[in-house]
Amino acid sequence: LLGDESRARDLLIEHLHKIQDSRGHLSVDMLAALAEEMKLSQAEVHETASFYHHFDIVREGEAVPPALTVRVCNSLSCAMAGAKPLLDELRATAGADLRIVEVPCVGRCAEAPVAVVGQKPVTAATPAAVRTAVAADDRQDPTPDAIGYEAYRAQGGYRLLDELLSGRREVPATIQALTDSGLRGLGGAGFPLGRKWAIVGAQAAPRLLAINIDEGEPGTFKDRHYLERDPHRFLEGALIAAHCVGVAAIYIYLRDEYAGCRALLQRELELLRAARPDAPEIHLRRGAGAYVCGEESAMIESLEGKRGWPRQRPPYLAEVGLFGRPTLEHNMETLHWVREILERGADWFAAQGRRGRKGLRSFSLSGRVNRPGMHVAPAGISLRELVDEYGGGMQDGHELYGYFPGGASGGIFPASMADLPLDFDTLQPHGCFIGSAAIIVFSQADRARELALNAMEFFEHESCGQCTPCREGTQRAVQLMRAPTWDVELMDELSQVMMDASICGLGQAAPNPLRSALRYFPQEFA
Ligand code: SF4
Repeated sequence: LLGDESRARDLLIEHLHKIQDSRGHLSVDMLAALAEEMKLSQAEVHETASFYHHFDIVREGEAVPPALTVRVCNSLSCAMAGAKPLLDELRATAGADLRIVEVPCVGRCAEAPVAVVGQKPVTAATPAAVRTAVAADDRQDPTPDAIGYEAYRAQGGYRLLDELLSGRREVPATIQALTDSGLRGLGGAGFPLGRKWAIVGAQAAPRLLAINIDEGEPGTFKDRHYLERDPHRFLEGALIAAHCVGVAAIYIYLRDEYAGCRALLQRELELLRAARPDAPEIHLRRGAGAYVCGEESAMIESLEGKRGWPRQRPPYLAEVGLFGRPTLEHNMETLHWVREILERGADWFAAQGRRGRKGLRSFSLSGRVNRPGMHVAPAGISLRELVDEYGGGMQDGHELYGYFPGGASGGIFPASMADLPLDFDTLQPHGCFIGSAAIIVFSQADRARELALNAMEFFEHESCGQCTPCREGTQRAVQLMRAPTWDVELMDELSQVMMDASICGLGQAAPNPLRSALRYFPQEFA
């Protein structure tokens, strides 16, 4: 299977995918053979393979899974749209040759509920639609019909990069323009881009660039939206960043669920390499179903072929990152905006916000609205404006009852707080945050406590298990939240420990939905 491909340590996950794709599962013997082939210990191979949800290890005496798997998303938007009855019916009617699995968010929340048959997404899924997809021969995620390399160039693409490479455009002025625009990291942390480039650029070479397209936060699908339509825009942004910061190589980490995008990127990267042989090497790496790998240091571990355990910091990735080298880490969307800001000017971008905020945000809007989808809107827009001006209003028969302003981890607000400006830093005083701008809207048909439980079950499932406050805390919180009466005092104490003592953002943010449900929806706990 591996042929004459490199056996380098960081390719372990890629090679595990090859075996799993070819054989449908991983056996203990296959892992041992791979360990020998890659000159690794069996423990190293096993600890990596067993960490990721998408690898099926079959141990001695266990049955080999059926050849076809249907994955049904059970996260917030899909749960509201009827994922549970869909799952129940599929489970009741599936034959022995079909495996039905409940999985967290697959990144298609605007088309909920979603099932994935093999690799083929079935949106607005019904049992009948899933059965039709199961019976069909083609179970691949179709390659999106995006703007390809030649079309992108014909639209002026890569001109900015050429200007930089030829010296007609200067690096300091480029970084200054991006700084002046107010562009911030759009993966959730919101760190100013100009400052990040300056910090990494000041470190010793060789420096690396790692691009995060893991997009696992329930409710988020903006990166997929851009990737499916215009992949060269972020690739040009990446090459501009690489030039400005002096980067030797680029690593892209793409979530495994985006199989169509993977095929698209493979194709377009080949064209790019052929057209620009002198550009830094761009490596495309495939995730394997672990939400925590969206955390920047966990992603770095995964890029190195290991389990995605977040690192303790300091040292920060800007100093000691991928393969121990100074690393510029970016969410894909941040790089997507680089070209447009440089072409249209920093003032254009900075002038877009409302209520004193700067720039545009890509809101992944889902839930009980008429036009769910990815909407580009001014930073600082309120939820009420977003729903009315972009989302087509609430669905018939549904009134706004509350919303998640930042996916599962950003907390929950009630309808009475629908006029707050949605942006970085504006929601923290109220105990929530915007993160990657995944807005999930719910109505009187839903219960905040049930949605908070759904979010906590997700964190329990996705906790990497490295630290006790998160590993045990999410489990205990789920137990407490499943009880008919919530033990508020105990939950408060548990939440505090998780926030104070967890290693990474997953455990620190996991109590947000629980805490905000208690704070803003007291009527549900009377
Ligand atoms: Fe892992 Fe959770 Fe600890 Fe993060 S907080 S390191 S996800 S156990």
